[in-house]
Amino acid sequence: MKIAFFDAKPYDKPSFEQYAANTGITFKYFETKLNEDTAELAHGFDGVCVFVNDTVNAAVIDKLYAMGVRVVALRCAGFNNVDMKHAFGKLHVVRVPAYSPYAVAEHTMALLLTSIRRIHKAYNRTRDFNFSLSGLTGFDLHGKTVGVIGTGRIGRVFIDICRGFGMKVLAYDKFPAKGLDNGDTVRYVSLDELFAGSDIISLHCPLTEDTHHIIDAASLARCKRGVVLLNTSRGALVDAEALLAGIKSRQVGAACLDVYEEEADLFFEDNSGHILEDDTLARLMSMPNVLVTSHQAFLTEEALANIAETTVQNLLKLQTDGQCPNELCFRGTEAEDCRSGKCF
Ligand code: NAD
Repeated sequence: MKIAFFDAKPYDKPSFEQYAANTGITFKYFETKLNEDTAELAHGFDGVCVFVNDTVNAAVIDKLYAMGVRVVALRCAGFNNVDMKHAFGKLHVVRVPAYSPYAVAEHTMALLLTSIRRIHKAYNRTRDFNFSLSGLTGFDLHGKTVGVIGTGRIGRVFIDICRGFGMKVLAYDKFPAKGLDNGDTVRYVSLDELFAGSDIISLHCPLTEDTHHIIDAASLARCKRGVVLLNTSRGALVDAEALLAGIKSRQVGAACLDVYEEEADLFFEDNSGHILEDDTLARLMSMPNVLVTSHQAFLTEEALANIAETTVQNLLKLQTDGQCPNELCFRGTEAEDCRSGKCF
């Protein structure tokens, strides 16, 4: 099975080569992202392996299908970059539903602690032998309330971490998890209650029509003044213009972003010698209380190994059985993991 691997980075190759060894699966690594202009590169391949900022829209799907490509192997959990409705009946779409929820949840807490304890400021100061503490006052997490939107794999690990800090949790999920609400330190509430009652809000839901700009001017207005916003999920969950306005008006106390709505052309690349065209991102990053990492939350050794292993297993399963438990299919109105075991 020959797979065209798009948006390849140096840290991807070792684990994929390790897990594909002696399986009959070969990867050809392309640094470019998959889109309408680059889809031609998949000519002669059985499948494509893509990541979060590759584009698998209707036009790309049609091109791939016409070339005989039959598999899209997402090496990530989210699949908002795939037109699932259009792919149905043409391409098998498999994903890595869980690779290390700890990687993302721990990065979220790392961002929160860095931000509220001003570690990023202190690091730069002490390197310059500036040992002044002025302006570095933080606040305790103990006793604070964190609102967690999306209580799936990552959200639940993040909740565990927060509970370890002695925080109270207000949770919201379209499909609440059984046994999580203990009526005391963890409670499922409505979105309105979560916005009104949280000192910190962390987003761990997927990007869907329902959740697009779930954080916008209206929701920020319903939050506590000084709320800290954490987004390690998907950029378009947050209306960046509204966030900037919230930061300027001091309604938002701090924001930690591992993802950004317009990240596709920027994140994962060295743009240090270029003029940043995105004024909203530039202004956000100029704020002392905004921390940005470039979609780095997943990047641990454990996660990279899990991603490679699961992707290779997904491809082998499709090859031998024609079906795979990690296949996505489009039923009714939403894409979901295949339950029938046979998508088409
Ligand atoms: P998951 O599927 O286990 O959990 C997602 C949860 O969101 C589920 O409980 C689901 O019921 C809930 N949900 C669905 N629609 C909702 C809605 N409208 N409102 C509220 N909740 C809703 O997924 P996960 O593994 O926990 O991952 C969560 C998200 O994290 C992914 O969708 C992905 O976008 C993001 N992610 C980011 C990185 C990174 O490196 N920054 C890495 C992996 C995943």
